[in-house]
Amino acid sequence: MTCLECKERLNYIDHKNAMDAFGLELCAKHMLRVEKIIKLKGTPKEAIQLYYGLKDAGIDPTLEWWDGKKSVDIAISRVRLNIEVDTEYHRISHEQAITDLEEAMHSFKNGFTTIRIPHVIIKFYLKETVQNILGIAEGLKANIKAI
Ligand SMILES: [Zn+2]
Repeated sequence: MTCLECKERLNYIDHKNAMDAFGLELCAKHMLRVEKIIKLKGTPKEAIQLYYGLKDAGIDPTLEWWDGKKSVDIAISRVRLNIEVDTEYHRISHEQAITDLEEAMHSFKNGFTTIRIPHVIIKFYLKETVQNILGIAEGLKANIKAI
């Protein structure tokens, strides 16, 4: 049992606390950091899990990346990919939908791709979600090279 972030060995209590809260192995210090981000930015728990899933797959993601206008849940800046984790996609209002579309348009104009992921698929298909994002990142990388 070691911390996903700093590889520090975890004691039983720290391990249990972090597993209960996020289902992730984090030391007390890094769990506090994650809790702070969630409190400050309203980051969904699933975004944290996806962040560590991507890190584990060898990608270098940024949590709560500031794009100049808003904070993006996860960004993979190397391929200009923004990932938003939706927690209320099943009852999205038309106002929210048009705001999302406008935001997607602005990021495309700036050379960024935004994908929105429902939080439940991270909960049930974390591995598959990570694999698909890896595929998207690869595709984007090829496109960036082509330009
Ligand atoms: Zn740590």
